[in-house]
Amino acid sequence: MIEPVIETLRHSRKPLLVSDIDEVVLDFLDPFQDYLQSENHWLNATSFRLNGNILSTVDDAPASPEMVDNFQERFFEGQDRWQRPSPGAHHALNLIARHADIVFLTAMPPRHSAVRRQLLDRHALHFPMIATEEAKGPVVRDLIGGRGVPAAFIDDIFYNLHSVRENAPECLLVNMMSNATFRALAPEPGHGIAKAENWQQAATMILDHFGVDVHL
Ligand SMILES: [Mg+2]
Repeated sequence: MIEPVIETLRHSRKPLLVSDIDEVVLDFLDPFQDYLQSENHWLNATSFRLNGNILSTVDDAPASPEMVDNFQERFFEGQDRWQRPSPGAHHALNLIARHADIVFLTAMPPRHSAVRRQLLDRHALHFPMIATEEAKGPVVRDLIGGRGVPAAFIDDIFYNLHSVRENAPECLLVNMMSNATFRALAPEPGHGIAKAENWQQAATMILDHFGVDVHL
C-alpha cells in the first residue's frame, strides 16, 4: 500500500531515497541459484534474463516459462530461508537514513509482503516497504509528492530506472546489481543513469546528491 507511506512523508523536508530490494538490498541471484539446485536445476549465466537460462541438472533441458514462473513463486514463498542482505547494504542504508527518508519499493508480488517484511526486520532493515507490480515511476513521483526535496532511486532493472526517469526527472538514478556475473552481462543503462559497483559507491553518489558531505 502506497498511501500510508505517502502520508508519513507528507510533512517531511528531508531528502528521499527510494530503493529497490532484490539484487540491491537483498541478494536474489545467488540465493535463487541455491534454491534452483534444491529443485535439480541451475542458472546458466549467458545472458541477462531468467527465461531460457534455467536448465535441468539431469540433461540441461531448459525449464519452460511456466516452470520458471513456478520457481520464482516458490522461491519468494520461502525467501526467508534463502535470501540475505547484499554486502554493505545495511551499513549504507543506516548512514543515509541519518540524513534522508528511505522507502523500499519492490516489484515482488504483494502476496509475499509479510514474509519479506519479516526477513527485512530480522536483518534490522526496518524501512517502510511498498510491494507493487505497477510501474515504479509514478510511485516514485507520488512519494516525492511535489515537496521539492532532493530524491534518489536505486534499482538493478533498467525498465524501472527508465520509468522513474520519465515520471520523476528530478530524481538521481543509480543502477546497481549485487551479482557481479550478471552485472557484467548487462548493457549500458542509458543516459542520465549513474552506475555503482557497490553500496559504498552508491551511498557516496546519493549523499552527494543530497548535499551531505560524508567521507565513506
Ligand atoms: Mg531488483
